[in-house]
Amino acid sequence: MDYLPMFLRVHAQPVLIVGGGAVALRKAEWLLKAGALVTVVAPALHEQLQARAARGELQHVAAAFAPEHLAQAVAAVAATDDAGVNAAVSRAARARRVPVNVVDDAGLSSFIFPAIIDRSPLLVAVSSAGAAPVLARQVREQIEALLPARLGALARFMGAQRARVRRALGPWARRGFWERLAAGPVASRVLAADEAGAERALLRELRACELTGAASAAPLGEVYLIGAGPGDPDLLTLRALQLLQQADVILYDRLVALELLQRARRDAQCIFVGKEAGDSGRQERIHQMLVRLALEGKRVARLKGGDPFVFGRGGEELEALAAHGIPCRVVPGITAALGAAASAELPLTHRRLAHSVTFVSGHEDGGALPDWRFFANPQHTVVFYMGVAQLAHIVARLRAAGATADHPVAIIEQATRPAQRVLRSTLGAVAALAAARAVRPPALLVTGNVAAFAAAETLAVLDVPAASAGAVA
Ligand code: SAH
Repeated sequence: MDYLPMFLRVHAQPVLIVGGGAVALRKAEWLLKAGALVTVVAPALHEQLQARAARGELQHVAAAFAPEHLAQAVAAVAATDDAGVNAAVSRAARARRVPVNVVDDAGLSSFIFPAIIDRSPLLVAVSSAGAAPVLARQVREQIEALLPARLGALARFMGAQRARVRRALGPWARRGFWERLAAGPVASRVLAADEAGAERALLRELRACELTGAASAAPLGEVYLIGAGPGDPDLLTLRALQLLQQADVILYDRLVALELLQRARRDAQCIFVGKEAGDSGRQERIHQMLVRLALEGKRVARLKGGDPFVFGRGGEELEALAAHGIPCRVVPGITAALGAAASAELPLTHRRLAHSVTFVSGHEDGGALPDWRFFANPQHTVVFYMGVAQLAHIVARLRAAGATADHPVAIIEQATRPAQRVLRSTLGAVAALAAARAVRPPALLVTGNVAAFAAAETLAVLDVPAASAGAVA
């Protein structure tokens, strides 16, 4: 280990920056964030440094560097593009035992700036000891994606509760309590910006611990109802990934890409709960399983294809959990229509082609019937989910409602996956085409003008050569 990582308190302490360019600006911004009293020594200043100096946020000494400038400093940064000046700053600082950083020169530095993930008060610093700053930044980005944006709020919340917990529990009980708290519903509430709910949950847990002794208190379980997106594993949201990595158990459907399970915790238990044909009791069994696992104290991720609340029965699962008082977090996913629109390059609305869009379930389970006359208007886009088996029926309904035989349609099979197929057709021809090409689920049917959209043709209409397409705004 070439460096000892430390976190230096520079609040209200003088720090010297030599140099007035863009690099100096970046260092000044970090130092100001940490509350340092920044002095910049440079003959001329970058305009943003100038603005900060004008606002009194930092002090500017318009001069060449002289060792006296280090007089009060608790740290110094050399950020000029003149190697001679940087070396002089390094020498003078070392002579006075002032920690010094020379930008991009670890040899002249006694400290280095790490790449930072800021969830204050929680901080993660990454360094390659100057050997590979690009690698350090990549690692920083990967960690950044894993840490919830509100982790700082959680750290503050835990800090604020320390005294209360210390009064209530002995040292043995405390540790287990905090571990469970950081990984359970209390933390989930804080991360979901519900601090009042978090406080109530904390008091409940605290009371349970006091009554039973923390060692034996059953931890509280919870459920994450997560949208897994349309298939491409990279279309998962950051929050979905974060919760997936916390979960003890994962219940997943047929439409969930198996690659996603590899992103879960290594020791997580994965249970397939997908539909087998003709299994009517399945949904009820899923409810029971979710409730049982959560009551055992497990953190359960319920992974659903697309979005849990778009033809996903997520609402029913939420109701079942609420009936048992089990906390649940819902994470939206990219629904199949949005994934398909992007990967097939079919805009769902377009100023010339369509002004509204409806997502419709191809199954009619009774209930209010949709207005097919509205759907028959080609200026309106309709995306039918679960439509393959219903294709002939949908076509007949649209035609009966006034849609013409040349009404554009598209079928997108396996959207966003490597096996994606896009078939363009018309209402009059689509049934025969789907049969001839053996379209299989999962697939979507899109109807309306946008189904005939092709960016290249639009350009042709605009009389712009396709090669210069990039220039067209
Ligand atoms: N909750 C899901 C929909 C579940 S219903 C969502 O928001 O996307 C299942 C139907 O979704 C399938 O029958 C199919 O019509 C559609 N679907 C799901 N994934 C799809 C995909 N990758 N490509 C095409 N259609 C898909």
